Amino acid sequence: MTGQIKEPADCLVKNIAMRDGVPPGWREIYDRLIVGLFQSDCMELVTFAGAQGGELQIALAPCEVATGPCAPLLAAARQEAAATCEDCGAEATRCELADAVRCLCARHYRVAQAEQAAAQRLFDGEMSAAGDWMAAFAVALGETPASRAALSSQGLEEVLTLIARIERGVYC
Ligand SMILES: [Zn+2]
Repeated sequence: MTGQIKEPADCLVKNIAMRDGVPPGWREIYDRLIVGLFQSDCMELVTFAGAQGGELQIALAPCEVATGPCAPLLAAARQEAAATCEDCGAEATRCELADAVRCLCARHYRVAQAEQAAAQRLFDGEMSAAGDWMAAFAVALGETPASRAALSSQGLEEVLTLIARIERGVYC
């Protein structure tokens, strides 16, 4: 049995390493889950942790479907994530975007809408390029489009107007 996982503490250490796949707003929930598994003497290893369709998805091994003390802990974490923003941990709901469903607070829903508009209209659908633009491009007001959109519906409208101006090549 050498080299095998023998202790819940070993599982905890391995499970901590899986938190990088979890969106930032859900990491506290994930941390509480894996500490809960450890405290319940669960020997489960997380093989996947991340967001899919606005839900926290966690796969455990050796049990594909968690049983015993693991099941309620997993259910509670998923239920809590369903009301928590993936990006910031604030109160949230599942939001339908054009190409994805995400669990977002009102601020981050507006940022996601702006980012999606930028991706589709300025960056050939490249979400990562749009994300970089949202994070870095300082508009005349001295704010990035992301921070502008996060403020209010009016801020989102301003970013959409900015995107339209860039699209038409009239921004300078
Ligand atoms: Zn948020």
